[in-house]
Amino acid sequence: MNKGTKLYEGKAKIIYETKDKNLVIQHFKDDATAFNNLKKSKIEGKGVLNNRISEYILSNLAQCGIKTHLVKRLNMREQLIRKAEIFPIEFIVRNIATGSLTKRLGIPEGTLLEKPLLEYCYKKDELNDPLISKEHIYSFGWATEKEIESIDKTTLRINDILTGLFRAIGIKLVDFKIEYGKAWNKDKEIKEIVLADEISPDTCRLWDSKTEKKLDKDRFRKDLGNIIQAYQEVARRLGIMPEETNISEVNFGKTIPIKFKKK
Ligand code: 5GP
Repeated sequence: MNKGTKLYEGKAKIIYETKDKNLVIQHFKDDATAFNNLKKSKIEGKGVLNNRISEYILSNLAQCGIKTHLVKRLNMREQLIRKAEIFPIEFIVRNIATGSLTKRLGIPEGTLLEKPLLEYCYKKDELNDPLISKEHIYSFGWATEKEIESIDKTTLRINDILTGLFRAIGIKLVDFKIEYGKAWNKDKEIKEIVLADEISPDTCRLWDSKTEKKLDKDRFRKDLGNIIQAYQEVARRLGIMPEETNISEVNFGKTIPIKFKKK
């Protein structure tokens, strides 16, 4: 599938058009940003790992009946995806209190939430993606009540599936952000809601079950170091990165020799 014109460039990804008007190519960059672009860096290999991890997670969700935008992974950095009109909303699910929830409401860090907490943020960089209520979504026509009802159900289902998937590999799914869009279904000749964007250590908080070591983008946000090693650890535990893989062997550019210990 040949890449056409660049349609959009975000902080971590680029979208290119293809010859098919309903399909686009999603390219994963190595760029990392935090605090609404105030902190920026290039992390060699991050795009490759997120492409692979997100492909794995979205494929697993698809096997459970969740509709996603993913068609297939094309290469180390690119996926063929269905073109979707993205809702201007970030859907956040929290299982354990941390991050902005603890700052905003003074909830103690690490509090186990009785049931998953759903939050909505307005996707608007200039405004720092502010927290919004469902009423804002309906008032400003960002999605309908029917759409949100269906998205909420799917989001909780995704949380259940992913909590189990990560628990099985010794990782706590603390919280995550997902996005949805409307994509053309050519068989049914309707637009349908699909899970879009990515699910990766950039968009989730993942803690080692025993040690609570952070295996996600908080390593970048909080200057904890070993970011790539943490993302590789997630990939390795998911079984999508062979034991003893040396990051330099997968052509990430810069040589960062890491050997995983065999269990
Ligand atoms: P918080 O609101 O605590 O900063 O983030 C909650 C969860 O959503 C975290 O897993 C965080 O990674 C994810 N998240 C929230 N907003 C964004 C965003 O703009 N970009 C990315 N990559 N993740 C986000």
